[in-house]
Order: sequence, then C-alpha cells, then structure tokens
Amino acid sequence: MRFAFDNSFARELPGCYVKWQPQRVPGPSLVFLNRGLADELGLQLGHDTTALAEMFSGNRLPEGAEPIAQVYAGHQFGNFSPQLGDGRALLIGELVDRLGRRRDMAFKGSGPTPFARGGDGKAALGPMLREVVIGEAMHALGVPTTRALAVVATGESVYRETPLPGANLTRVALSHLRVGSFEYHAARGDQERVRRLADYAIARHDPALAGTEARYGDFLRAVMERQAALMARWMGLGFIHGVMNTDNMSIAGETIDYGPCAFMETYDPKAVFSSIDRGGRYAYGKQPGIAQWNLARLAEALLPLLAEDQDEAVALAMAVINDFPGRYRHHRLAVMRAKLGLAARAEEDGADLSLAEDWLALLHPSRVDFTLGWRHLADAAEGNCSPLREHFTDLPALDAWLTRWQARCAAEAAAPATRAAAMRLANPWLIPRNHLVEEALTAASEANDFGPFERLLEALARPYEERAGFERFATPASASFTAAYCTFCGT
Ligand code: AMP
Ligand code: MG
Repeated sequence: MRFAFDNSFARELPGCYVKWQPQRVPGPSLVFLNRGLADELGLQLGHDTTALAEMFSGNRLPEGAEPIAQVYAGHQFGNFSPQLGDGRALLIGELVDRLGRRRDMAFKGSGPTPFARGGDGKAALGPMLREVVIGEAMHALGVPTTRALAVVATGESVYRETPLPGANLTRVALSHLRVGSFEYHAARGDQERVRRLADYAIARHDPALAGTEARYGDFLRAVMERQAALMARWMGLGFIHGVMNTDNMSIAGETIDYGPCAFMETYDPKAVFSSIDRGGRYAYGKQPGIAQWNLARLAEALLPLLAEDQDEAVALAMAVINDFPGRYRHHRLAVMRAKLGLAARAEEDGADLSLAEDWLALLHPSRVDFTLGWRHLADAAEGNCSPLREHFTDLPALDAWLTRWQARCAAEAAAPATRAAAMRLANPWLIPRNHLVEEALTAASEANDFGPFERLLEALARPYEERAGFERFATPASASFTAAYCTFCGT
C-alpha cells in the first residue's frame, strides 16, 4: 500500500527525533479499523484484513513511511524529567486530510525505541481499546481529540502484573507536539532548536502568525486559548484525563494520551480514579489550574524567544498566563449556558455563571449522576421535573434553584420545546461509563470477545440521541462499583 505521506517533521526538524523501525510481531490480527477516519484521511484501505493487519502491526509499512521516535521532556506529577520521548511510539508519517489539515499517523506499542528507558516498548490490548473507546466517544461528543485509526493484536504476550495480549494502536493527531517537546530543548539551552520547533508549530497550527514580529508571544497565547477551550469542554462533560503531565499536553489543543482517564459518575470536584495519582494532583476540579501550570512551563521554555530583554520576556509571558483564568471563564460560560439552555447576554455573565456553579453545588450533596442530572434538566425545561427530582435528596434546595433558573429562562423568547431540544445537544445522554468500558475491555482481552466493545462503540457514536435499545449504556454504575473503581496507567 502507498500513502501520500508528506513528512514535514522528519524533513524540517533534525535533532528532534531518531529514525527507528517498529519491531516485528509474530501473529498480527486486525481487531479495530476506523473506516470513517480512513476516509477522512483519503486512504483507500481495501478489505484484505491480512494485509491490513500486516500494515497496522508495522510488519509491512506503507510506502512513503519514515518512522521516527520523537524526543521530548516533561513535568510528570510536578517533577521535571529532562528526557522522555517516544519510548514505545513511532511517528509513521504525515497525511493531509480531505479538509487540508495535516495529520500525524503514529503507532503506539510498536516496540522499544532508544527512549524506552528500560520499558518493553509494548502495549497491552485492553489499554489500546480503551484509547479507541474514549477517543471515539470524545470525538462524537464534539471534543478536540486524537483518534484511533486501527488496533492490531500482535499475537504475543506483554508482561505487566500478569501476561496480557499485546497490541499496536495507530493514532491520528493534528500533531504530536507537546509542551514537553519545547521543554526538552530549552532545558539543554538549545535556543535555536526551540526557535525552529516554535516556527514549525506556528506554520502548522497557527499559520496566520508565521513571520510576524510578535509571533512567539502570540503563539503562546494561541496555545493558551486552545487549552482554555479544551478544559471548559472536559469540565462540562465530567472528563478526567488522569495524567496531565506536560508531555501529555498537546500544542494543537487536542485531548491526547488516554491512559488512566475516566468519566465522572456522581458529581464530585475531588473525583480521581487513577491509581498513580495518590495526591489527587489531577483530580477533576483541578484540571483547569493544572492546564495553566503546564502553560507556564511552555512559557518558560519560550522565554528566550519572547524578547531580548528577559525582564520584558517574563512580563510578556506572565501577561499571557495570567489571562488563562479569564479565558477559561469565557469558555466555561459558553459551555454552561448551552447546558443550561440559555442564550448569551453580556449583562447576565456573572449571574449565569453563579447559576451554573450553584447548580453544581446542588449535585454534590445529593450524589447526583453528573450526566443524567444535566440531561434531565432538559426535561425540566419542558415542564417535566419528575425525572430530575428522582435524583435529588434535598428537594427544597432543588426547587429553589429551579425557580431561579426558570425565571432566567423566562427572560428569553425560546419556546420550551426548542430550549429542551437545544439542551439535549449540549448534555449527552451517553458517556463511556466506567463499568461498561471495563466490561468491554475484559471481554476482548480475556475472552477474545469483541462484541461488547463493538456495541459500546456503536452506542457512543451518537451520544446526544436517546435511542431505544441503548438504555443500558445510559445507566450509572452501582455506587459500590464507582467507589472501588481505579484506573491504571495505560500500559
Ligand atoms: P505516558 O505516561 O504513557 O504518557 O508515558 C510517559 C513516558 O513513558 C513516555 O516517554 C512513554 O513513551 C514512556 N513509556 C510508557 N510505557 C512504556 C513502555 N511500555 N515501554 C517504553 N516506554 C514507555
Ligand atoms: Mg504520554
């Protein structure tokens, strides 16, 4: 097979990667193929599943592939690691999609690279299917995300606590440039490479800034803006990334690196599921603040480019980083207004945000399911409050809040049915519920049964639509499941 690769990173950024080959696998079989995404990329893949398995395992790469392992650093749980890099991933090539957007095609789990740091370079099937499920759900929910193109079971075992079936994931991203990519060269004092990387990132993600005088500061601002928007989307859906290290934060503003991530069930700002996040650094409610912290690390890496005078550079960087809370608030207000069924009215900004925050404060003590709480608010917009009331223990508090909200709604002309329909496009019926994700991954990796995985994907492809036959996917896990639920790092 021949793909129309155009490998700009490999061409333009020597010193930012090493050329490397995927390790051969003994028994590749194709377990997931994203035909919709392949079409978006203009790939004609055909139906020879043996050939596709050979290709997406790395045994027989498409023509034009130039596999490379990218180098990057990163702050992991607050501590700086000067060299991480693609330990088990390879950038295979870049494609320009049907919309003219450049997309990376990369492997994850294709064997150790010089950056493996003692790791085996492999991935287990379960975590790779998890990346498929959550990534596709995020895409269908309308959140910027990397996506899975294919998963191949390799036919070999990978050893974690127990032997597990191995897999290789093919991932598509707007780029794999991370905050950590800049930190790597900055920490080595290699300003020239930081500059080249920044100019490359600008050409790729913010082409309007290319060649302008103030481009590096404006680029920092553009990355900040994308992250502020992304955090507002995550928070509106109850998504918890779980490992927001700077090497897992994309310059392109996509959600990337689905490891120990999870969707919140009952609303709790302190919710954390990751087994490696014992301190709760990456808890649900902390995510916007962590994004700002990570952006400050990017700003530090860019300082020498921002101005010749370093005091001036620091002032410039601080101005951008200090704007994050305001920009986040702006995006949050837009997300919350859509969820509350309200139109934008500048004079109501403060009141509408309070209305949203007061609603969330009601959810916590009643342990309301975050997704269903919001979804049933759409029913309340049409005068049917009983599905919502069933979720609450403190009914007088709910009623007091509903009165405020209804008064605010009454200030607008929208008919109740119109408002409810709009709210149902902002408040999904389905999210990937943790017990169903686990059920699907367990069936696939322990019993080689991909039925539950496929049905889950089918359900999550249309998350805003209430469809008969999919009720099971909208039902929360038992409280005991959620209390004991713990995700492990995506290895
Ligand atoms: P992550 O937490 O998945 O974002 O990974 C952090 C770093 O560890 C990256 O540099 C990965 O390439 C590397 N890494 C994770 N798992 C493995 C593995 N099994 N073998 C080699 N490197 C790995
Ligand atoms: Mg990572």
